[in-house]
Amino acid sequence: MGERGKKSGKAPVVAIDGPAGSGKSTVARLLAKALGWVCLDTGAVYRTLGWLARQEGVSLQDEEALVALCPRLQAISFRWSDAGGLLVYLGDRDVTWAIRGEEAGRWASEVSRYPKVRAALLDLQRSFAKDAPLVVEGRDTGTVVFPEARWKVFLTASLEERAKRRMMEMGMPPEDVNLEEIREAIRERDNQDSNRAVAPLRMAPDAIEVDTTELTPQEVVERIKKLMEG
Ligand code: C5P
Repeated sequence: MGERGKKSGKAPVVAIDGPAGSGKSTVARLLAKALGWVCLDTGAVYRTLGWLARQEGVSLQDEEALVALCPRLQAISFRWSDAGGLLVYLGDRDVTWAIRGEEAGRWASEVSRYPKVRAALLDLQRSFAKDAPLVVEGRDTGTVVFPEARWKVFLTASLEERAKRRMMEMGMPPEDVNLEEIREAIRERDNQDSNRAVAPLRMAPDAIEVDTTELTPQEVVERIKKLMEG
């Protein structure tokens, strides 16, 4: 990936926000692929920071030490896999699998509570829209990171459906999965993400809400494309 600039650019941005399991990642990837746009998974940025902190023995409660790790996230990049997935790299290291799963989600939720950490990662996220049109997904991409995004979508889905999706994602046989545990983990993360002081999970006033409970990812993508055609 080339040198990225510092400021939020003028390239068109589609911002997709929503709670865990609402379909953001799948939809954002499909949409970006279909449009040939860059795709930024901002959750992966916080997940990678949480993972890095664990690797380096940095406490997830130590805001200053976490901020000191943030410059190393400049080395994050996203690459399409042959199968159409989005791989996450930190430098030359493929961290896609290391940052997947509910445990890494919890680490991300811990580190992302800190205002100074969020501030330290803002320019990095904005730099992805500097040179090319961008599909970005997360919790605050339409409210804080790209408040000027041309299109904003807020995805929701029932807790039951979101837990099922997470279960499928984990790729484990259903008999090895405790759905109630997953439901509880998602509920806890929703709670933490919605109630934190800084950049809580909120729908932007100018976002379009789409309930994805009964929709396939492709159907959600079609809706967003229609919205973009305006
Ligand atoms: O979307 P994903 O589950 O990968 O996000 C992991 C965690 O990262 C979220 O639960 C949230 O705490 C944090 N996050 C955030 N702001 C974003 C994206 C993710 O705080 N824009």
